[in-house]
Amino acid sequence: MSGEPTQPSANNIALHNIPVSALKGVGAKLGATLAKLHLNTVQDLLFHLPARYADRTRIADMSELQALQPAVIQGAITRSQIVLGKKRSLVVNLADNTGQVVLRFYFFTAAQQKQLAVGNCLRCYGEPRPGALGLEMYHPEYQSVTSLDDIHGLQDTLTPVYPLTEGLTQKRISLLMHQALNCLDSSPPTELLPAEISAHFNHCTLSQALHLAHNPPADADINSLMMGTHLCLQRLAFEELLAHNLAVQQTRLTEHQDPAPALPADDTLKQALLKTLPFKLTGAQTRVLHEIEQDLNTHVPMHRLVQGDVGSGKTLVAALSALCALGNNYQAAIVAPTEILAEQHRNNFGTWLGALGFKVAWLAGKVTASQKRKALEQLQSGEANMAVGTHALFEDNVIFKNLGLVIIDEQHRFGVQQRLALRKKGGAHCPHQLVMTATPIPRTLAMTAYADLELSVIDELPPGRTPINTVMINQNKRSQIIERVRAACAGGQQAYWVCTLVEDSESLAAVAAEKTWELLQAEAPELKIGLVHGRLKSREKEAVMQQFKAGDLHLLVATTVIEVGVDVPNSSLMIIENPERLGLAQLHQIRGRVGRGSRASHCVLLYGHPLSKQGRSRLEVLRHSNDGFVIAEKDLELRGPGELLGTQQTGDMHFRLANLQRDSAMIERIHSVAKTLLISQPDVVKALVGRWFNYQQEFVKA
Ligand code: ADP
Ligand code: MG
Repeated sequence: MSGEPTQPSANNIALHNIPVSALKGVGAKLGATLAKLHLNTVQDLLFHLPARYADRTRIADMSELQALQPAVIQGAITRSQIVLGKKRSLVVNLADNTGQVVLRFYFFTAAQQKQLAVGNCLRCYGEPRPGALGLEMYHPEYQSVTSLDDIHGLQDTLTPVYPLTEGLTQKRISLLMHQALNCLDSSPPTELLPAEISAHFNHCTLSQALHLAHNPPADADINSLMMGTHLCLQRLAFEELLAHNLAVQQTRLTEHQDPAPALPADDTLKQALLKTLPFKLTGAQTRVLHEIEQDLNTHVPMHRLVQGDVGSGKTLVAALSALCALGNNYQAAIVAPTEILAEQHRNNFGTWLGALGFKVAWLAGKVTASQKRKALEQLQSGEANMAVGTHALFEDNVIFKNLGLVIIDEQHRFGVQQRLALRKKGGAHCPHQLVMTATPIPRTLAMTAYADLELSVIDELPPGRTPINTVMINQNKRSQIIERVRAACAGGQQAYWVCTLVEDSESLAAVAAEKTWELLQAEAPELKIGLVHGRLKSREKEAVMQQFKAGDLHLLVATTVIEVGVDVPNSSLMIIENPERLGLAQLHQIRGRVGRGSRASHCVLLYGHPLSKQGRSRLEVLRHSNDGFVIAEKDLELRGPGELLGTQQTGDMHFRLANLQRDSAMIERIHSVAKTLLISQPDVVKALVGRWFNYQQEFVKA
């Protein structure tokens, strides 16, 4: 992108080689403003797509106006008055044959006041908002017209509305866009979509699509343009999502150039482990394990995400996968986000793998220095076959003899950096990687955010589980609930009482949990009540959990540290205080601590008062569904992908035009097209990514 500024009319200069400064009217100042939006070349400009369209093609009836939907209206002024309220304003009533609207101006000149006098006719464009006097428009654009029926000067096409920055106006950018479209005609961009995809979009070319987007013709279907479902816009959305998918895959692919060791499954070992279990694998576990085993059997590093609802039995799948490494004299490591969870894995892996003669090393934040030294030595010498731990496993001083497989449990708690850190511990080769999550991410979202991961879903719970019965109860009925807990515990059941907080502060939550714990002890003195929160020492936490697991405690008061993975089959009642503070997917995970045994389980959502209507309908979702995927879809709809995945995972997935919900039907196709392109057409990949994500590399670096 160097050299002399080129006249845009010069033929055949690739659009990404024409600087915006070559356009008429772009001097140093505007150039700097455009640069703030990363608009450095004509290509950048052309891919700066309208955020939406304004419909100034027709005059709306005032009676059909809807709040926050911008529209053109036209009417006669029936009142014009200065009102001295909190702030002095000029209030103008405008009426047509169907109704009236209030215009409000806080700043106005004498000349304007004259123009806005009673009896004059006006055309306005603005966004109606609900106000004290019905729908109101604040400072709308307006012009005088001769009569109510005057249609002179209405636009004959939709007006693009662009994302702006300070110092840039819609008018300015649309003038630039017209010039950019001329450049587009003299040097049309290369068509990069495969022919069969292009056919799917009726062979709409990129040039045509960009013309349509920036300058929709008068006869284009307004509705489909507004909705983004117009074939040309869909073609652009496809290309944008494809470019995004390629960018994610490409960046992370470069991370594992080194081959992985092939780790064929050892059937004898596998059967030996399965024989020690009191149950059989579910169909879904078997299928997912098979997918993993196939990956592990090659030198291509596995990079697979296993999603499975809480209680679907991911741990066992992880252990059987680890066995592939161990059986081939390679080491495996599993890392969990909390000490409690890591401890549970330590017990499970210790039992299951220990019985087969393998040694499990334990590394958490709070092991003693000498224990830690020993574990480190064992991992480095190869005496330990398996490492189980928390973040401590990421540390530089953790060195493996020959790490073949890394397993990350509840991966949404970790950043991508941390995942990569573990992958580097494989020495000369790249270890396989298995990541597990109980946050069921809708498939299309997962395929976009985790484009570089293969996906497996354990979509079946072990047999004999009864669905959790969830109810919503007002907090002012707390004493009734305490009675219910007493009765259940008297009958031999165990229960959880979960305290939540708005902020993600474990220390504040700990205080809340302590208070509740004291209160419950006072109210139900006959119950043995334990308390766990993130401020306890890991030894203390473990001791309490062990007591609860062993049935020595009736009731466990806890913060959301029990959210993931903790497993006590005899607990069948859970109270969640202030559930309205958490996301649905998270609540579903917490709730998944019960319903693991064969007894019918109950979850009481003890909501704070008053609960908004929206808050109530959100919680209703949990009442009606026990299916994590359904709940996740709903969460996605209500709170967007960032909330569901954590921005740590995705960066900001802001698309210019694509919309994951609207365009979800394309995603499978995009994924497979991307795969093919990555293997066979590196130049196309580079050009596509450059076109759409030239500057925006942050999200892929994540
Ligand atoms: P999660 O997927 O939430 O991590 P876990 O791996 O903790 O679930 O498993 C939950 C419980 O189900 C554990 O007690 C585990 O031993 C048990 N379990 C796992 N697989 C099966 C199975 N196939 N049949 C019956 N119980 C199983
Ligand atoms: Mg788990």
